[in-house]
Amino acid sequence: MHSYLQHYINGEWVDSDGGERHEVINPATEEACTEITLGSQADVDKAVAAAKEAFKTFSQTSVEERVALLERIADEYKKRMPDIAAVMADEMGCPVAIGNAAQAPAGLGHILKAAEVLKDFEFEEQVGAARVVHEPIGVVAMITPWNWPLNQITAKVAPALAAGDTMVLKPSEETPGSAAIFAEIMDAAGVPAGVFNMVQGDGPGVGTMLTKHEDVDMVSFTGSTRAGIMIAKNAADTVKRVHQELGGKTPNIVLEGSDLSEAIPNGLQGVIINSGQSCIAPTRMLVHESQYDEAVQVAKSVMESVPVGDPKEMGQHIGPVVNAKQYEKIQDLIQKGIDEGGKLETGGTGRPDGVNQGFYVKPTVFSNVTNDMTIAREEIFGPVVTLIKYKDDDEAVEIANDTAYGLSACVYGPPERAKAFTGKLRAGLIGVNNWGPIPDAPFGGYKQSGNGREMGKYGLREFMEVKSIVGEPA
Ligand code: NAD
Repeated sequence: MHSYLQHYINGEWVDSDGGERHEVINPATEEACTEITLGSQADVDKAVAAAKEAFKTFSQTSVEERVALLERIADEYKKRMPDIAAVMADEMGCPVAIGNAAQAPAGLGHILKAAEVLKDFEFEEQVGAARVVHEPIGVVAMITPWNWPLNQITAKVAPALAAGDTMVLKPSEETPGSAAIFAEIMDAAGVPAGVFNMVQGDGPGVGTMLTKHEDVDMVSFTGSTRAGIMIAKNAADTVKRVHQELGGKTPNIVLEGSDLSEAIPNGLQGVIINSGQSCIAPTRMLVHESQYDEAVQVAKSVMESVPVGDPKEMGQHIGPVVNAKQYEKIQDLIQKGIDEGGKLETGGTGRPDGVNQGFYVKPTVFSNVTNDMTIAREEIFGPVVTLIKYKDDDEAVEIANDTAYGLSACVYGPPERAKAFTGKLRAGLIGVNNWGPIPDAPFGGYKQSGNGREMGKYGLREFMEVKSIVGEPA
């Protein structure tokens, strides 16, 4: 059992002041794998006070000092990548191969990118008679999810450090171990006391306390739209900035005449990796009616060839989904898909054949899906794809945009034809023959997928205030 009972406050590991013990269940073995202490109001107050005090000096550091700090963090991070992958396998069931090749490196990428962006960032500009400067916003509360845990933590911590902010991180209570290793990395890199603090806890507890705290200037949140709405409401009384990276229901338009043997497996990679637990998983596959039957057969054979297995073992298999609650939710949605008239091509409810323990979900394909069905509207967060038929390009765009979300959209097929779609799709990330983001480019959602952007220079600006100075002597 991993034991991380302390919080990291003001440069030290400290006992909780009155918090309760919490256990994380390994989704492969269904046994406890990590213990933490859920923070109390006293813990949160201590962490916020440390961040507020540290802001006085850290906000005044030079760009060179902060670049050097980020580079030291990157060096320490590299040393701990195997540990990060191992604890993710225990806590969220992410196969070690994916942890090592994708999850842990994503975090390193954000740290290195923040250092690079900081070197070139224009902190000042002249606007008419005013000198306009970008300044750190202050104390930032960061609330992060479990699905790409280190990716989300570093996408906030690294640019906030680059900006000169101080922070209190509340990682997901489902993946506290990888976050604790990250705090150890920050400690080893010599981050000044109080600049980075971490209080373990859940949403109703520490999450809400941070959101309402009057000494927190900004909340940067990644997670469900449900929680994002509650955070925005709870933050309103103290008028803090709320940055939200929320859910998605990504459409994937497969253009008429596409080579299905390429387009379908490539798009499905985004539904398979991480057992479908990615906010940008392209789970609504829209296929022209002339190729629909063939597309269903290709999707079926791809999903039937996905092995499911033990996350601790090396291999190309997918692991279980994160916990019992998520497993039950996926089962309910698959059943709803059947009840509402979707045709189950492969997969379905229950565990994969031969598996009798762990929260493993069968890779599933639904055909005969219309965009009004629950499985086409709600985020499933499992290895489940729905194939929807369209008759022409206009209808494809209409179906793609007919969603409450707007995080990402993909177009697969001849790139020149795909270009005509990019301006019509209402989403923050458009992938052409591609479904993933790149670390330089802004990432964030339209509509109910969020407010604000992460990554690259747009991500850095998010953590800053803008000041106009007028009448200064030349
Ligand atoms: P979640 O909303 O349940 O939890 C996310 C975090 O918010 C956790 O740390 C949780 O403790 C905290 N939280 C929950 N309720 C809260 C409240 N009322 N006040 C304050 N904090 C609260 O989400 P999850 O299940 O951890 O993650 C999956 C969701 O995250 C999916 O919807 C996914 O699409 C989304 N996500 C979005 C992005 C993005 O960049 N847009 C990236 C990854 C995940």
